[in-house]
Amino acid sequence: MTKILIPFEKSIGERRVSATPETVKKLKNLGCEIYIEKSAGELSGFNDFSYKENGGIIFNDNEIEPWENADIIFCIQCPDNKKLKNLKKGTLIIGLLNPFGNKDLVKLLSDYQLSAIALELLPRISRAQSCDVLSSQANIAGYKSVLLAASELDRYFPMLMTAAGTVQPAKVVVLGGGVAGLQAVATAKRLGALVFVSDIRPAVKEQVESLGAKFIRLPEIQEKVSDSGGYARAVSPEFLAEQREILSEHLSEADVAICTAQVLGKKAPVLIDEKMLEKMRPGSVVIDLAVAQGGNCVHTMQNEIVTKNGVKLIGASELPSSVPYHASSLYSKNLISLITPFINDGQFEIIKDDEIISGCLISDNGAILQEKVFEIGGSS
Ligand code: NAD
Repeated sequence: MTKILIPFEKSIGERRVSATPETVKKLKNLGCEIYIEKSAGELSGFNDFSYKENGGIIFNDNEIEPWENADIIFCIQCPDNKKLKNLKKGTLIIGLLNPFGNKDLVKLLSDYQLSAIALELLPRISRAQSCDVLSSQANIAGYKSVLLAASELDRYFPMLMTAAGTVQPAKVVVLGGGVAGLQAVATAKRLGALVFVSDIRPAVKEQVESLGAKFIRLPEIQEKVSDSGGYARAVSPEFLAEQREILSEHLSEADVAICTAQVLGKKAPVLIDEKMLEKMRPGSVVIDLAVAQGGNCVHTMQNEIVTKNGVKLIGASELPSSVPYHASSLYSKNLISLITPFINDGQFEIIKDDEIISGCLISDNGAILQEKVFEIGGSS
């Protein structure tokens, strides 16, 4: 019987959990045994009692036996060395393991001969959509970024006609129209803002227009802007310079900029530079979701509010964690979709040449499989 362990997430600011009582029940029905570290779901709104009621086994922080016996660790972020050293050879860790350029992770996985699936690398094929944690979490980040901007902004979002006069709607510029960006567009539209979007993938134009937003024209420079997996590629410095030129005009009239532009495994493109920032209106707000990848806006710092020329710059890398109930519910369902096809009568058996698994399995019993990912230095 496969034993799955659900840790209490120890990283600072992390409030999510990798399994909910509902998904524990599903795993139990598949014949697995599920060990949940005490209070693991407390910050997401799931108490130990509800896990127990659904067939989970609660263990204490100081117990190492569940770690020693675990076959699979479901996690959001990778557990630390102190926990990993207790795992037996071949234990499979599944989570957002932050593999890009992460030499420490390589060392841990090979030293302890562990297997690992980095969910960041899940191939973006139709069959994998139900397992796609990047999408489920980015959706939340996009939604919350707009709420955060609205609460920090010095003015209304909607247009209002009042006896005291007419209030013009806020102008929101969304940089990057992927999963987070499209959700930000939809949320800002619901709040009544005028929304403009910049993305380098031409396919995004139709998507943002269908949501009632306007697409900002692309640079004239012709470049291959996306790869076969649907992700954007890093563009040339000349392309970016022309893009910033176009954006500068829009940003000088904007009340809010939501930055979501990313290039997988690379540093995020800088889309708001010093000069553009100087032209922005004092009181306007920039929310930078790409801050952990270096940021789309100069001066943004992770989980901090920095004010430059009266513009509030908010580096928001942990927004999914600020909606922990739904972030955990969706994440844990993604994990169930990922592993269910590989469980038979309670026994988990990984199929390494399955297209989804081969795309995101980064270590097999300590043998590192995606060397290139770990070598990425991160430059755009
Ligand atoms: P992401 O987080 O890597 O990037 C966010 C957005 O930033 C992307 O739309 C990208 O084009 C954009 N971007 C990159 N450089 C930019 C620049 N210089 N200026 C402006 N924008 C820039 O991507 P994501 O949101 O996770 O996904 C991107 C796309 O992948 C989705 O919109 C979708 O089309 C596709 N996708 C496919 C599947 C699937 O299963 N088929 C699943 C999820 C996403």
